Amino acid sequence: MTGDVAVIGAGPGGLVAARWLASQGFEPTIFERNAELGGQWAGLAGASGVWPGMHTNTSRILTAFSDLEPHSRDVFPAGTEILDYLQRYAHAFGLLPRIRFDTAVDYLGRDGDGWLLRHGGDESRFDRVVVASGRFHATAVPPVPGLETFTGVAGTSTTYQYRGSESLRGKRILIAGCAVSALEVAAELAQQGAAKVVVTQRRQRYVLPKYAAGVPSDHRIFTRYGVLASETLPAAEVDRQLREIVVEAGGSPEQYGAPAPDPSLFAAGVTLSQQYLPLVAESRITVRPWMTSVAGTTVTFSDGCSEEFDGIVFGTGFELSMPFLSEEIQKLVGLDAVHLDADRHTFHPDLPGLAFLGMWDQSGGYFVPLELQARWIAYTWGGAIPAPTEADQRRAVQLYQSRRGLPQKSRMNVAALGFARAAGVEPRVDDWPELRRALLFGPLAPSQFRLQGPDALPDAAERFARDAAAFGAITSNDDTERERAYWSLVQAATVT
Ligand SMILES: Cc1cc2nc3c(=O)[nH]c(=O)nc-3n(C[C@H](O)[C@H](O)[C@H](O)COP(=O)(O)OP(=O)(O)OC[C@H]3O[C@@H](n4cnc5c(N)ncnc54)[C@H](O)[C@@H]3O)c2cc1C
Repeated sequence: MTGDVAVIGAGPGGLVAARWLASQGFEPTIFERNAELGGQWAGLAGASGVWPGMHTNTSRILTAFSDLEPHSRDVFPAGTEILDYLQRYAHAFGLLPRIRFDTAVDYLGRDGDGWLLRHGGDESRFDRVVVASGRFHATAVPPVPGLETFTGVAGTSTTYQYRGSESLRGKRILIAGCAVSALEVAAELAQQGAAKVVVTQRRQRYVLPKYAAGVPSDHRIFTRYGVLASETLPAAEVDRQLREIVVEAGGSPEQYGAPAPDPSLFAAGVTLSQQYLPLVAESRITVRPWMTSVAGTTVTFSDGCSEEFDGIVFGTGFELSMPFLSEEIQKLVGLDAVHLDADRHTFHPDLPGLAFLGMWDQSGGYFVPLELQARWIAYTWGGAIPAPTEADQRRAVQLYQSRRGLPQKSRMNVAALGFARAAGVEPRVDDWPELRRALLFGPLAPSQFRLQGPDALPDAAERFARDAAAFGAITSNDDTERERAYWSLVQAATVT
């Protein structure tokens, strides 16, 4: 076996995979269909949902990898700054010469005990392959009776195609959906000159502002405590705690004049947006139930009301799509628009030498879990940690299969901790008494995953203390009253 590994995709996932594979002695070659690296953050029309002018939903600390500091001083950097960060990252780790730009992989299949890639009439053979082609490129547009008859001048489109408000100024726009991009586009249009903005949704989610009291919400909500609570407390109690934090940060939608969400946060879901609810409160955005039909420029909603629109923008999510996988692989992993049967989204026991990266759906930032998943793959193949046994992998795949049909969206803290444990880099809270509160209730900053285990860094404790204290978040080791109350519940549940 050689050390040659193909990595499909030069987005954040492919880049961080190549960096960690190289550090384990492998020779990664990255295949990228675009002329630029950065994936979503390249902002290329038709190949990315990140529009010019978009800022991250995730704080700069959680939109970075563990061994390169962001340059941006913005709490939520512009998409262009993330692209700049990824270019610096590729440069710092010598990845640029490894990337084959303008090279789309159109077939990946088994070839003896290795893998065959076909790309633009050429083919290459590799012992190992990491598929990092991105989770958010195939838009899902639900069927709406009469949609094809829509005659509004701005037509129908998706948030993936949205490039800014200019072409929609002065227009009456219907936004379909309630995920982050839908609400962010609605807010941008309402503030930048659309004649009317209406959001149509199946259910009202809770809306968490990006900031609460000056602290980015992802530093508060995606914590290790949240994972430990999910593992030890009844689901209803976790639901109650999450709802408490979300409502305390930004109120409940009905306080702004939006419909009341389901009392259960798990049932309603939660979306991040700073401006959306205040704009609803000023009637600059109107909320309607889901649309039932379209005829010409008229859209009818399930409450019987009808309105005229010039454009409809769908922000209704993405389907899992890897059309280049051979039929055999697609069948083994049971690939459909939502599911991929794999051990923790990564390995399949019948596909040795193949790994998937970044293919799960979650709320919260991707950079930290992507790096941890990349380290798990690189450490497993490089022998730095024991590989999962075949029996364990089969059990994990069966467990995943048993949950098919249930909601598949995860949370960033759950994904990150899962990969950190797999990679052997989850810090033990008891080993770091001076960081106890930051480790439990602080952000899952990438620096904390260099405290212990393979590739630990001597300055990680100092860096993590700084990251946790950033934006005035965790500046002392003294728990707040609520943290004490929450933690005592987890401890009681652990003891019994
Ligand atoms: C609108 C939007 C906003 C987002 N905001 C945030 C945010 O604020 N914070 C955050 O952390 N995450 C955010 N995300 C999630 C984002 O997907 C991740 O940050 C990150 O880009 C995922 O990296 P990736 O490498 O897995 O996938 P991608 O970034 O999608 O990169 C995949 C790469 O694979 C290439 N590729 C695909 N198929 C092939 C093929 N067959 N052959 C060769 N190359 C191929 C693509 O061209 C692309 O370059 C956002 C996503 C969207 C759509």
